Amino acid sequence: MLRLSGKIVFRGIAMGPAVVLKKKDETVERQKIEDVDHETARFEEAKAASKEQLRKLYEKAVEEVGETNAAVFEVHQMMLDDAAYTDAVLQMIRTECINAEFAVAVTGHDLSEVFANMEDDLMRARAADIKDISDRLIRNLNGGEEIGLAAMEPSIIVADDLTPSETVQMDKEKILALVTVHGSADSHTAILARTMDIPALIGVPMDLEQVHTGMTVIADGIRGEVIFDPTLEAVERAEGQIKEEQERQELLQEMKGKETVTRDGRRVYLYANIGGVEDLGYVLENDAEGIGLFRSEFLYLGRDPLPTEEEQFQAYRQVVQTMKEKKVIIRTLDIGADKQADHLCLGKEENPALGCRAIRICLKRPDIFKTQLRALLRAAVYGDLSIMYPMITSLWEVDSIYQIVDEVEEELTREQIPFKRPEQGIMIETPAAVMLSDELAEMVDFFSIGTNDLTQYTLAIDRQNEDLDSFYDPHHKAVLRMIKMVVDNAHRCGKRVGICGELGADPKLTEKFVRMGVDGLSVSPAMILRLRESIRQMQ
Ligand code: PEP
Ligand code: MG
Repeated sequence: MLRLSGKIVFRGIAMGPAVVLKKKDETVERQKIEDVDHETARFEEAKAASKEQLRKLYEKAVEEVGETNAAVFEVHQMMLDDAAYTDAVLQMIRTECINAEFAVAVTGHDLSEVFANMEDDLMRARAADIKDISDRLIRNLNGGEEIGLAAMEPSIIVADDLTPSETVQMDKEKILALVTVHGSADSHTAILARTMDIPALIGVPMDLEQVHTGMTVIADGIRGEVIFDPTLEAVERAEGQIKEEQERQELLQEMKGKETVTRDGRRVYLYANIGGVEDLGYVLENDAEGIGLFRSEFLYLGRDPLPTEEEQFQAYRQVVQTMKEKKVIIRTLDIGADKQADHLCLGKEENPALGCRAIRICLKRPDIFKTQLRALLRAAVYGDLSIMYPMITSLWEVDSIYQIVDEVEEELTREQIPFKRPEQGIMIETPAAVMLSDELAEMVDFFSIGTNDLTQYTLAIDRQNEDLDSFYDPHHKAVLRMIKMVVDNAHRCGKRVGICGELGADPKLTEKFVRMGVDGLSVSPAMILRLRESIRQMQ
């Protein structure tokens, strides 16, 4: 059995045989050619063939996924007519006397790099389109066939990444789920998967040489994991969940627009956890009552230089404006441990989970912290924004944070930039914070319990270490008692307390948490309606 986690881009669970799509070796060789006219004619023919294929794909897609989602194939046809692209290819063939395949490959690569480096998410997603049309042209120049995906039995598609044309060629009746190593929540794969209503997971760290077509695979887009070659126990669990899901799916839609309130009138707030602006669609789709955790560090990961104040301000403002008057809790940079960002030059640590992470970085590097705080205070003008600080262990840290916030306020006032001081809360995710929660409650506006780290630090088990799964008991009495203690201490001070770790989405504990007095749960958007349903059934 091989169990891997991934990012859910569309919720659901499926089990079936894998169809592993390995990209053919697309290395295109540079060849000198004699007859330039013949080569340009070959290119024009390949272009015409590509356009004809795209026209047919467009018609098929309109029928299956509607005009809006099919539009990508119209865009591809237009791109093939784009003078900047075709002129560059033709000029390369003529001036360098090289084969059309090579000219297409180089032009496609250069142009997609330009898009990949753009700031706008949508523009970045266009890089995949350029690659898609270039691959199609090369296939046609080689007299190649499209991947035959129509004739398969119901399967789970496993791939490095999927181009829109690959996705739409598939007979959607026969696709149970999509699982890819790469891709983004904004990619066409994700959009099409949502429209096709099939589970999809991206960012699954698979070695495609280790898995093969025909292997049984469980694509669990509820827990965010993929299991290859599952044990009998895992198969039985998946079968149970699939059945349950099918029955529930329809009923759940009725939960939209309803209040999350127990039968005896206790109101519980159901918020969503997000990693970026691109997740807002799921938040709205699932009728979340706000955002309880925006993991802002995703703005910092995988990029150099750090995001500017303006860039952050735009992202935060977009989130609060989209959520209208609903609550949006943005957590400040929680980098370190499993979320490494090389450009922060944190240096190698023997034990990163106990090292320089989250608020410790912010307090050691007030320059980085202030940039984020400025963006947050500015965005707070546009809606109901709250700031939340991660990994607190001591009272003095909160004092230091407030001092920096005061400085930021003074700066913004001096610069006459509009801002608002938002509500400020902390994450309770270390045993130290639990033990000090009575005093911390007096200093902050709210608590949010981060059970992922709280469990890790309480049980002394690295949350990333799969080998310790048998020791990692998220329902451990010690953790549950800590949660109760934090809730009581918060309420004694009249402060709100929620749970934003994964445990908050565990339906087996929902009732327990509500009875403990937890005010809100912040969970992945796909869990909202499910939890609302069970809370509404509680006495
Ligand atoms: C947590 O620790 O429970 C939490 C919500 O934060 P993260 O998982 O991002 O560390
Ligand atoms: Mg945490």
